[in-house]
Amino acid sequence: MNIKSVRGVHDILPAEAPLWQRLESAARRVFGAYGYREIRLPLFERTELFARGIGEVTDIVQKEMYTFADRTGESLTLRPEATASVLRAYIEHGLHVQPKPVKLYTMGPMFRYERPQAGRYRQFHQLDVEAIGEDHPAVDAEVIGMLVRFFAELGLADRLALHINSLGDGVCRPAYRERLVEYLRQHAARLCAECRDRTERNPLRVLDCKKPECRPVLDQAPSLLDFLCDPCADNFTRVRAYLDAMGIRYVVDRRLVRGFDYYVRTAFELLTTELGAQNAVAGGGRYDGLVALLGGPPDAATGFAIGMERVVLLLGGTTTPCPPAAFLIPLGDQALTRLLAVAQEVRERGVPIELGYGTRKLRAELERAHRLGVDHVVIVGETELGREEAIIREMKSGSQRTVRLASLGDELAALPERASSTGATALRSEGAAACEVGSAAVTSPEHP
Ligand SMILES: [Zn+2]
Ligand SMILES: [Zn+2]
Repeated sequence: MNIKSVRGVHDILPAEAPLWQRLESAARRVFGAYGYREIRLPLFERTELFARGIGEVTDIVQKEMYTFADRTGESLTLRPEATASVLRAYIEHGLHVQPKPVKLYTMGPMFRYERPQAGRYRQFHQLDVEAIGEDHPAVDAEVIGMLVRFFAELGLADRLALHINSLGDGVCRPAYRERLVEYLRQHAARLCAECRDRTERNPLRVLDCKKPECRPVLDQAPSLLDFLCDPCADNFTRVRAYLDAMGIRYVVDRRLVRGFDYYVRTAFELLTTELGAQNAVAGGGRYDGLVALLGGPPDAATGFAIGMERVVLLLGGTTTPCPPAAFLIPLGDQALTRLLAVAQEVRERGVPIELGYGTRKLRAELERAHRLGVDHVVIVGETELGREEAIIREMKSGSQRTVRLASLGDELAALPERASSTGATALRSEGAAACEVGSAAVTSPEHP
């Protein structure tokens, strides 16, 4: 019996990998321009980090974590998100002594035991950004500007809508929460079972429910914006003014809440209507109390996470690899020995080369060259080897010329290139060759 992958995980195959590389290089480029530096973190942590950092009463901690005891019996958990780990590292390595805000980003797989559905996985990938140690509302506006810039870089900005809201703080939110719970209990009969459950455990999350039957009640629910204290109201006004100044369009969305207890004031999401009900591609906000909650200094923080699978879905398409510059066909083992050395030398100069292994007939090798899509093949048989020569044949015209074996490397390096290079590099040369760049977003780059 063949062993298959685990339910809810997925492989990223070579045809799709260039899209991921494109996403990752855009992130490095854009985040770097805003002064963010990469931090790489472990995939598992002590369970208590997430229990404390995400909140005991959240769905994630109660139902969705991959938690296990290691061989010493210590409880460990595969990270369900990145923020708690970033802050743990920030505190552990004393990064708070650096000039603030300390700007960090990280990317990689996260793990949640959720019901798998289209575009949602148990091992999924996030791009995560955190700005720590500064509570100025301009930092919120700046990270939102960076998020929007990232999607513009990928040519996706016009297909997404930015929603923002304020979640208040510890001064004004408790009164709102009380009023909301009261309202939800009054209308419990017209809410789904999950909403009724959440009313008691995590009432703000009820506003998140996407079920149509809950809609009428939730649309009439009291809004947090009407409960903001003066400092929170002023803060939200300023965030909006900064966004306006940057020319960033947004919708104030009174129903936008975040799933975590530690979010305060600014919350935001980038939404698309193209992926069905799971329509948030990125989300974030301010979480000022979390660093202290994890045992660090009382540092404010703001940030966001991007669901990489969803971005790849939006980018769409698959890619075909660029053909190598040439395919070398040795006929026999001696010819192979010579051509392997030539290939080594030419590849060292960054020119992609493929070669046969001297075991198949010329006709079969030419067929393989044809399938690779190469423009040029090099043939070296016993006769050519005896004369220290090689034949370079142009596949399309069938025309051939003979060159010295000693200068074959230079000849190959001088061949006209169809693609600038392989892999991610070819993807960056936008509008160039038709290979490796199957996605519409690459062939028609937008930079609004
Ligand atoms: Zn509901
Ligand atoms: Zn407030």
